[in-house]
Amino acid sequence: MSAKVVRNYVNGSWVTSKSTRRQQVYNPATQEVIAEVPLSTKEEVDKAVQKAHDAFHEWRTTPPYTRARAMFKLKNGMEARFEDLARMVTTENGKTIDEARAEVRRAIENVELAAGIPTQMMGYNLEDVAQGIDEVAIRQPLGVCASINPFNFPNMVPLWFLPVAIACGNTYITKPSPITPVSQELLFELLDECDLPDGVVNLVHGDEEVVNALIDHPLVRALSFVGSSRVGKIIYERSAMLGKRVQAQGGAKNHMLVMPDADLPKSIANIMGSSYGCAGQRCLAGSVLITVGNIHKQVVDGLAEAASRLRVGYGLNETTQMGPVITQQSLKRVHSYLERGQEEGATLILDGRQVKVQDCPDGNFVGPSIFDNANSEMSIVKDEIFGPVLSVMNVPDFDSGIEALEKSRYGNAASIFTQDGGHAREFKYRVRAGNIGINIGVAAPVASFPFGGMKDSFFGDLHGQGPDAINFFTDRKVVIERWF
Ligand code: NAD
Repeated sequence: MSAKVVRNYVNGSWVTSKSTRRQQVYNPATQEVIAEVPLSTKEEVDKAVQKAHDAFHEWRTTPPYTRARAMFKLKNGMEARFEDLARMVTTENGKTIDEARAEVRRAIENVELAAGIPTQMMGYNLEDVAQGIDEVAIRQPLGVCASINPFNFPNMVPLWFLPVAIACGNTYITKPSPITPVSQELLFELLDECDLPDGVVNLVHGDEEVVNALIDHPLVRALSFVGSSRVGKIIYERSAMLGKRVQAQGGAKNHMLVMPDADLPKSIANIMGSSYGCAGQRCLAGSVLITVGNIHKQVVDGLAEAASRLRVGYGLNETTQMGPVITQQSLKRVHSYLERGQEEGATLILDGRQVKVQDCPDGNFVGPSIFDNANSEMSIVKDEIFGPVLSVMNVPDFDSGIEALEKSRYGNAASIFTQDGGHAREFKYRVRAGNIGINIGVAAPVASFPFGGMKDSFFGDLHGQGPDAINFFTDRKVVIERWF
């Protein structure tokens, strides 16, 4: 029996792409083919963009309260099908069911934020900027906007953008990752029930060809990208050349600093969640640990002990604590870094290749791994491995820790574990990362704060989420008026 082909959603209808190019979608825990995804064509993108453009005028003149009502409907739909959405995330991405539930909860929070658009989109004014002259700042939607999404949060990441974008009066096209496209098909089934006018939201599956067609289309005004820095930079440059508004959230290599005064049991529990949650496939995963002074051995021993007890397995099993990595290619990449780290001189004190999952022999499983005696020049510290591999190094003092951390080309997140307010303040003041955790291993901002990123982790100006998102999805216009 052939696998179900995921559908595009264009102008309020489900359509099967005519593309002859298709890709299989796997369950990473079992290798079962769960669907096929079409790699849609340039012509199909053009049609979706045209329809979104045609829908724009009616939608932007729809009162913000009415647009917000669609967000309440979407939230209700997501709550009603919460468990289905979470199970699909686990099925196509591999993360544990609890991690998937947390993802869907965060996704809903972004919809809740957008439901507040009638106040968030308000402008401001000042009377008598000169005698008898008033000045008013207003926000207006841009037109057709689009997002290009990664595999690792297939339900949530697209919702960093779509709800705020359409609540602001834009029309929209989502392109999911072709590795995990089914979660967005489910989400669009819910959007289909929100009574949105045809063309306001559209779903187009595909790869690079769809992305380039979206960037190059003259009617697409703004693009949001989330994925690797390599691709983010390509997209940022191509979009900027065409004068598009673009935000590109890229990859990461997040460092964590443990001070000698840290609360060890709590810090170790936090570091475990940061490094091995979602099998290390989070842009906020802590993948480098810097211990300061003589606390090193206690931290490493504690981590090795906790990590070796982690239950690795099928994410739909409620007792599983860590799922597989996404593809066979990812598994090979993780294995190759486990080799390379040793060649570079680090000590592999926990080797995830030893872990076998009896009931899923074909899954892309690799257990938690730990390198000790790493340093900033090694590829295991420089490169984003995007798997459950933690590299640990020891430095004599706080300043050396900051120095090591600052060598990274990435600046997505950084955390410190300490009980000393002075060090915590210095850390947040000096470290160039968009999300800072103080005794928090996964520094994930809630929907009302921007999701930061610095250095090679972000290309652009305005981030996703929070007030940045409202600014990204609107043009600010100032009216200066005098009446004779
Ligand atoms: P990826 O860069 O491979 O793919 C992301 C998207 O870009 C996909 O939709 C893909 O189809 C498209 N794409 C791939 N190659 C392209 C090309 N040459 N031209 C145009 N489009 C292309 O990323 P991924 O493997 O799906 O996701 C993992 C990455 O995402 C990691 O680097 C992770 O750190 C990052 N990420 C970052 C954030 C953040 O907020 N900074 C959040 C989640 C994930």
